[in-house]
Amino acid sequence: MNNETLIKNLRNVPDFPIPGIQFKDVSTLYKNPCCMAIMVEELYELYKDKGITKVVGIESRGFIIGAALAVKLGAGFVMCRKPGKLPADTISESYIKEYGEDTIEIHSDAIEPTDIVLLHDDLLATGGSMKAAHKLVKKFNPQRVYINFIVELIGEGLNGRAVFDKDVEVTTLLQI
Ligand code: AMP
Repeated sequence: MNNETLIKNLRNVPDFPIPGIQFKDVSTLYKNPCCMAIMVEELYELYKDKGITKVVGIESRGFIIGAALAVKLGAGFVMCRKPGKLPADTISESYIKEYGEDTIEIHSDAIEPTDIVLLHDDLLATGGSMKAAHKLVKKFNPQRVYINFIVELIGEGLNGRAVFDKDVEVTTLLQI
C-alpha cells in the first residue's frame, strides 16, 4: 500500500533506544488526524469482509489503531499485555528477545472458539513478539486468525514474516 502521507509522517529516530537502532516512531502518525483516518480506512478495506469478531492489540502501540478498527469493524477489542497488568485469570506465552526473555498475557476468557481474530501491532521487526501472541491466541482454538502491522521493516536483513506459518495471512500498510 505504502500511502505517501503515511510515509511522509512516520518519524525515524536514529539510535533509539540503543545505538544502531533506527526507531520508527508511529506517534507522529497517531497524532495526525489525516494519518489516523488513512490507517483505519485502509485496514477496514482489508478486513471488512473477513468476519472479524475480535481485534487483539499488542501492548501498547497496538492498542490505538486496534481499538479504532474494532469499532469500525463492529468487533470487540482484546488487550494482549505485559505480565502482571491484567487483573483476572490469564494465560501467557514466553518468547526469546534479542536480550533475554519476555512474556505476554491475555485474559483466559478473552476469546471464544467461535471468534475470528485479527491480531494487530504497530511494527514488524523480527516477528518474535507477534509469534508469541499468535501462539497465545491459537490456544483458544478460534475459527481463524489474521495478523496485521502498520509498519514492516524489510531492510537490514530482517524478514519477520518468515516466522509465521505459510497459511497465516499477514498484511502490513508500509514496508520500509
Ligand atoms: P519484533 O518482536 O522484533 O517484531 O518487535 C516488534 C515490537 O518491537 C513492536 O511492538 C515495535 O513496537 C517494537 N520495535 C522493534 N523494533 C522497532 C523499530 N526499529 N522501530 C520501532 N519499534 C520497534
